[in-house]
Amino acid sequence: MVTLSPNAQDDDTLIGFRDEDPPPLTLPLRPWRVLAVDDDRGFQQALAHALGDLHILGRPLELVQAYCLSEAARLLAKDHDFAVILADVVMETEDAGLRLVKGVREMLGLYEPRIVLLTGQPGFAPVDEVMETYDLSDYCLKSDLASRGLKNVLTAAIRSYSQLSAVSSARKGLQLILEASNRLTTARTLEQIASTVLIELADLLQVPAEGIVCVEGSDSAEDAPRGPIIVGAAGQFAPYLNSALRTLPDRNIAECIVASLDGHRPIERNDCQVLYFPHQHAMADYAVYLSTGRPLETSEHELLGVFAANASKGFGNVALISRLDRMAYEDELLHIPNRAALLREIGRRRIGTGGGQHRMLLIDLDNFSGLNDAFGVALGNRILDALVGPLRQAFPPPTMIARITADLFAILGLADQVDSAHAMAIFDQPLRLDNDHYRLTACITELTLDAVTGNADELLRAAWTSLRAAKQRGPGSSVAYDPDIERQAGKRFALMSRLGQDLQHDALFLVFQPQICLITGRLVGAEALLRWRTDEGFIPPAEFIPVAEKSAYIHAIGDRVMQQACEALKALDAAGMDDLGLSVNVSARQFDTPGLAARIAARCAEAGIALCRLAIEITETAAMSNFSHVAQELRTHRAAGGIVAIDDFGTGLSSLEYLRDLPADHLKIDLSFVRHLEHDERNRQIVRMIIKLGRSLGVGLIAEGVETRGQADWLRDNGCQAGQGWLFAKPLPLPEFIAFCQQYTTP
Ligand code: C2E
Ligand code: MG
Ligand code: MG
Repeated sequence: MVTLSPNAQDDDTLIGFRDEDPPPLTLPLRPWRVLAVDDDRGFQQALAHALGDLHILGRPLELVQAYCLSEAARLLAKDHDFAVILADVVMETEDAGLRLVKGVREMLGLYEPRIVLLTGQPGFAPVDEVMETYDLSDYCLKSDLASRGLKNVLTAAIRSYSQLSAVSSARKGLQLILEASNRLTTARTLEQIASTVLIELADLLQVPAEGIVCVEGSDSAEDAPRGPIIVGAAGQFAPYLNSALRTLPDRNIAECIVASLDGHRPIERNDCQVLYFPHQHAMADYAVYLSTGRPLETSEHELLGVFAANASKGFGNVALISRLDRMAYEDELLHIPNRAALLREIGRRRIGTGGGQHRMLLIDLDNFSGLNDAFGVALGNRILDALVGPLRQAFPPPTMIARITADLFAILGLADQVDSAHAMAIFDQPLRLDNDHYRLTACITELTLDAVTGNADELLRAAWTSLRAAKQRGPGSSVAYDPDIERQAGKRFALMSRLGQDLQHDALFLVFQPQICLITGRLVGAEALLRWRTDEGFIPPAEFIPVAEKSAYIHAIGDRVMQQACEALKALDAAGMDDLGLSVNVSARQFDTPGLAARIAARCAEAGIALCRLAIEITETAAMSNFSHVAQELRTHRAAGGIVAIDDFGTGLSSLEYLRDLPADHLKIDLSFVRHLEHDERNRQIVRMIIKLGRSLGVGLIAEGVETRGQADWLRDNGCQAGQGWLFAKPLPLPEFIAFCQQYTTP
């Protein structure tokens, strides 16, 4: 047996119904409908008269009359809703009444209406078999009706109808609840559960879906009390979805809902029901108002109890899901959406339109790690937290503000509400934290969601690449997404993986460019320059060295260069040029792991090469990037007898103060100055200054990129001792370089 009552443990949580509410509206009770089928007009008249004021089980009667079998059949085909059918046996035919009974049960499949057969004279009573087969309630001689009492006959029939229909509607209701509970458990959002509850509830009670789901408003510290919020609305209430309950014009309904929420109880009225779902199960206080337009029947009350228990679990599920959702999609530190939430939102916003109307900004704070290092992570975190306020102010909901990683934020919203200028303006003002002010700058990039065809992840990666381009321009830069930037990045990536493979083979080797004394014309040394040969030709070092510098490959390359330079020096020895030195280029990144000078010294010792024959070239910019550390290594190298040349000198705009402390033996005048020596007075002035500076620092000078005799003469006349360039020789493979040296040294 099925018991139609909510869980016992739910009883105290008020998912039941009480009759102690505001004055019920008086609506007319539904009458019991009786169909009388009889061709005896006199009897029909008497019946109508007798039933006029009759009430049975507290309800009035409504009489519908038909005067023959065919009329009754037509009527019943359209209208099934009868509690009792009184049918005369003999009408147009002798068994018309029996045929009607058969039609009602077998053809129309109506099993609930109770049928009372009436006979005009004794002897026409139906046989027992018919009574049983067609589930007839009773039969009466019309003449006996008065003595037996019409009311008694009808009362018995109506009582049994009422019990039958209660069982039947309970069965249907339970079926509905079962189906509804499936739908309730699949709801994932508050919006879904609210609308499912309203639809299923209306379906269960067979009334139109006119209702409201309200949740008790937040009263947390930052949110002022807002009163109940309408989170689900159907029918005429639909326009009030997501509004405060106080905006609802029908005060009666609003008060009814407030009474339910405040009193923590359901409310029943003759024209509506308010179900109450307590915090304990639903994780928030909910009230569901449904306009029923009629009071509920007893069986419906019970069904409602079962439904409410299910719905309560549905609300609970949604709350649980949203809590899990929060754990998965919320940034733990700032309590704003995280990277996963951003990716999900990008996907949502791209559905249908492809995302062209939506724009995303990436905002990366400049030098945030420096700030963390200097003042500690705790302050860094507080600064990030304090930044959320101004971001939110500039980009109010429904624009999304997400934190992707450390100091990288994303803003995602409609294109006409989100742009980088707007975001940049946030940093015009210092950030206030307690009594301190912090001046922050950030690099920003922007792109519309249709800028990239790949998935959300790829879009974010593209934005990231674009942001890096902004970062390269320096603090406070903003760069709009340009597919070309990404193409370049893609190319760089392909280059890097190819470099990794080719490093295993001998595709990278050194060539040697002679350096000539501009006064004597003698060969004084050579610069070793790296070459990368592929099937498609050479890839210039200016292209692959910066890529290698972004990976650990630069260390492998540095090792390879040092090893090949030592081998070249040994080959020079063997060719009788044991006084010739080589210089190798060293990247700033090679100084990352301490002990570079020691490693170079060890390699030379291993190869049996005097350290003074190996010079290292480091660009001015690289030396300045981590001055104290680099300078220390250079000092070590020099102290051990090694030589240091500062490459591309003049391009780094270093301050004199640093230059004075830079341990160097040579300055290499950058070829960009040498190139225009003959035509540009300004260039000449710069080169004169560099030469003067070199002399005052007591270091040698080597000019790069000397292509003409005129350049060489001018440089010599102005005090630059050495030069390197195509005028003398292009960078040469080792055998050709050795041949070149032999020519030069042979008088
Ligand atoms: P760099 O050290 O300043 O090298 C001088 C560059 O000028 C070389 O380009 C050389 O081929 C080129 N050059 C020499 N004479 C002339 C000339 O008369 N006219 C012109 N127009 N150019 C001339 P390359 O070999 O393409 O190297 C470019 C840069 O790549 C180098 O600049 C250096 O910074 C870097 N690099 C080269 N090899 C290595 C290496 O083994 N390790 C590292 N870390 N960087 C390297
Ligand atoms: Mg160089
Ligand atoms: Mg150079």
